Amino acid sequence: MPGFEVFGEEEKKEILEVLDTGVLFRYEFPEQRRGVYKVRTFEENFARYCGVKHAQAVTSGTSALKVALTALGVGPGDEVITQCFTFVATWEAIFDVGAVPVFAEVDETLNMDPNDLEKKITSRTKCIVPVHMLGAQARIREIKAIADRHNIPVLEDTAQAAGGSLDGKRLGTFGACGTFSFDAVKTMTTGEGGMIITDDEKLWRDMSEYHDHGHDHVPNPGTRGGEGRNFIGFNFRMMELQGAIGIAQLAKLDDMISSQKKNKAALKAAIAKIKGVTFRTILDEQGDSATFIGFFLPDGAKAKAVNAVLAANGAGAIAFGANTWHFYPKWEHLLAGSTLAKSGWPFAGPDGKRRVVYDKDALPVSAALMDRLLVYQVPVKLSEQRLAQMVAALDKAAQI
Ligand SMILES: *Cc1c(COP(=O)(O)O)cnc(C)c1O
Repeated sequence: MPGFEVFGEEEKKEILEVLDTGVLFRYEFPEQRRGVYKVRTFEENFARYCGVKHAQAVTSGTSALKVALTALGVGPGDEVITQCFTFVATWEAIFDVGAVPVFAEVDETLNMDPNDLEKKITSRTKCIVPVHMLGAQARIREIKAIADRHNIPVLEDTAQAAGGSLDGKRLGTFGACGTFSFDAVKTMTTGEGGMIITDDEKLWRDMSEYHDHGHDHVPNPGTRGGEGRNFIGFNFRMMELQGAIGIAQLAKLDDMISSQKKNKAALKAAIAKIKGVTFRTILDEQGDSATFIGFFLPDGAKAKAVNAVLAANGAGAIAFGANTWHFYPKWEHLLAGSTLAKSGWPFAGPDGKRRVVYDKDALPVSAALMDRLLVYQVPVKLSEQRLAQMVAALDKAAQI
């Protein structure tokens, strides 16, 4: 899965070009930088790769979500629907703009169940944030159709699915905008970093200005302009070294994905021999970025038994149902409403009254599904030796 596996000479060359100019900052210093604009070039390349008009680089996938939600006008009093299987960052960003996250069930795509989404829409719903988890597609067309009926914008959290697509269209391009992460474990990495893509010029201009303290980027969008300010902002600027790494990593993305596809196919053949196994629903195999392989056993007990055999043979799988980073009933701080704010915000409102309570058992369909799910991360580089070990472990599990 991670881009750090292929970090090499190409990244070093890009970084050295920045160090040679001494300009680490994406804006200004026109003479010293001698035409080197790494973040801007990375944005242009990423937009072209995704087939969209605009890309805005930021400091992380979490800040990408925050910048996008802010530019979409989401704030206190609003509700944002996302899914109960995601990384904590998705709902941290929703809280951080003052809104309340509402969690929808996932189905066998391991992504948002459109039927449950529709049930959870209220007059306060101001954004819908499906996540393309574990490298593959959410039911984004159905989700978008529901959102359009209710006139609510869709923000795709594409942090885990850079390079993925559905029917030839890149993930992250179906909604109003799509966000990406380039952190340490993502398919392409810049160490820390994030990106937002959109075809909406106004949305992009707002994101560009907001992420740079509200500085007026007009009349030179993407650069600093007259230093007026249209609204308050914050600092989520990416620096040139990250942009440099991003350029090199993006150029390797398609190759990384094809290696992962090959490795995933080899693992799938071995997993298929386990009795009663079914695979996670992938809506478009061609567009799967193949960073993970997910499979279901008939019940939780069987999943545990299979994973015990796999672990004993050096190839334990991830049981996301028990994973404290990615699944709703395991987010103890969310369930407990834990916050550093003395007022209790964001769980309590300005009046000190609790404005939202999360019930551990609120998402039974997903809980049942996650209980019988096992997942392997698919590496870019899988040695023959390691593959043989995994296949041997899976063959043992096939005997129970
Ligand atoms: C990694 C991740 C993020 C956050 O990205 P960072 O760059 O680590 O801030 C957001 N959403 C999902 C689904 C992620 O996996």
